[in-house]
Amino acid sequence: MTKKSNAQLVKLGKKYVMNTYGRLPIALVKGEGAKVWDADGREYLDFLAGLAVNSLGHCHPKVTEAVKAQVDQLIHVSNLYWIEPQIELAQSLVENSFADKVFFCNSGAEANEGAIKLARKYAKLHMGPDKYEIITMEKSFHGRTLATVTATAQPKYQKAFTPLPEGFRYVPFGDLKALEKAIGPHTCAIMVEPVQGEGGVNLAEPAFWEGLAKLAKEQNLLLIFDEVQSGLGRTGKLFAHEHYGITPHIMTLAKALGGGTPIGALLATDEVASAFEPGDHASTFGGNPLVTAAGVATMDVLVQGGLLAHCLEMGAYFRGHLNRLAEKYTFIQEVRGLGLILACELDRPGADIVAACLEKGLIINCTAVNVLRFLPPLIITKEDIDHAVAILEEVLASVEANAGGTPA
Ligand SMILES: *Cc1c(COP(=O)(O)O)cnc(C)c1O
Repeated sequence: MTKKSNAQLVKLGKKYVMNTYGRLPIALVKGEGAKVWDADGREYLDFLAGLAVNSLGHCHPKVTEAVKAQVDQLIHVSNLYWIEPQIELAQSLVENSFADKVFFCNSGAEANEGAIKLARKYAKLHMGPDKYEIITMEKSFHGRTLATVTATAQPKYQKAFTPLPEGFRYVPFGDLKALEKAIGPHTCAIMVEPVQGEGGVNLAEPAFWEGLAKLAKEQNLLLIFDEVQSGLGRTGKLFAHEHYGITPHIMTLAKALGGGTPIGALLATDEVASAFEPGDHASTFGGNPLVTAAGVATMDVLVQGGLLAHCLEMGAYFRGHLNRLAEKYTFIQEVRGLGLILACELDRPGADIVAACLEKGLIINCTAVNVLRFLPPLIITKEDIDHAVAILEEVLASVEANAGGTPA
C-alpha cells in the first residue's frame, strides 16, 4: 500500500464516499492516547475523541491487547450460541448499573430503536393495548434511523424523511410542567438524555430530574435514559444519571463502550427486560466476540483505574480555564457541562473557530451551530489541557481582533 496524502485521500473520498458529512480536509491515519496524526504526518491533540468514543484515548493498550487476542481466537459466531465475552460484558454492565439484563447491538441508534421496541412491548403486556406513546425532549438526539430520528425532536434531522413513525410527543428539555401536561392516555414512556450532547451540551436542574422520576412513578411510566454520549464515565460518574440520584427502567449505551469498536447496548431491569421473548428482537453482529472482548477491556479500565475521579479533576481544571476565557472574550456567552463533556456557547457560529483550531493542531467540534463542544479522552492530562487552552486562546484572540468575527 502506497502512502497517500491528505489531498489525495480527500479527492478519492469525495469521489467514492457518500456525501453525508461536512468533513474537514484531513484524513486521520494514526492515534495514540490523546494524539492523532493525519496522512501528511501532522500531529493533533484530540479534544473530540471520536465523538466521545475514544474515552480511554486512542489504541489503549488494554483494548488493543484484548482485540488482538480475540481476533486470533474467534471473531464472529451467531447469537444462536452463547458467546463468552458477551456474557462477561453483560455481567460487568449489570454489576455496575441499576440494570439486570443487557441486549447488545451495533450503535447508539440501534440501542435506542431497541429501547423503543422494548418499551412498546412492555406497555402492550402490562399497561394496555393503547399505550405506545413516548415523550422525548426538544434539542435531543437519539439517532438516524426512522424511529430514532423521530424520537430526536429536531425538525432539521426529520424534514427530508417524512412520513415519520407515529407515537412520539415532544416537550422542552427541563420543563417539568410541560412534561406533566404532555402525558396523555397513550403515554407509556419518557425518553431523555441525562446530558444532551448533540443538542448543545444542555443540562437540566436537579429539580427536573426529581420531578421526572416522581411523575414516572405516579403515572406508571417507563423511564428510558439515553446515555449513549453521557454514559461510561464521560461526566465523572459511570452513568450521568447517578449525578441526579435517580434510575431509569431502560438505558442505552454505545459510543465509549467498545474502546473504539462499534457496539451498542440496551440495559433494563428484569421486570422490563422480560417483555422480550425469542423472536422479538435481534441483531446478527450484536455482541459479537470481537467487540464485546474490547468492551470487557474498556469496562475494566473504566471501573478500576481511578479514571472517574481523574475525569472530575480534569473537568474542573479545564472548566476553570474555559471560565477564564469566557470572562476575557465576551462573545463566549456561557460555559457549561459536566465532567469532561464541556461546552462554550458563542454569540455566533463556531465552525470557523473549529477550523482555525484544527489548523493549529487542536481537534474540537461545534454542535447546535454556535456551541463549541469539548470531549477529550478521560485520560487527558493537565499538560494536554494547557496545550489545548493555549491554542484555543490564540484562536479566540484572533476572533476578537478581527472585526469580521472570524478567526484570522
Ligand atoms: C451519538 C448518539 C446517538 C446515536 O449513536 P450512533 O452510534 O451514531 O447511532 C444516540 N444518542 C445519543 C445521545 C448520541 O450522542
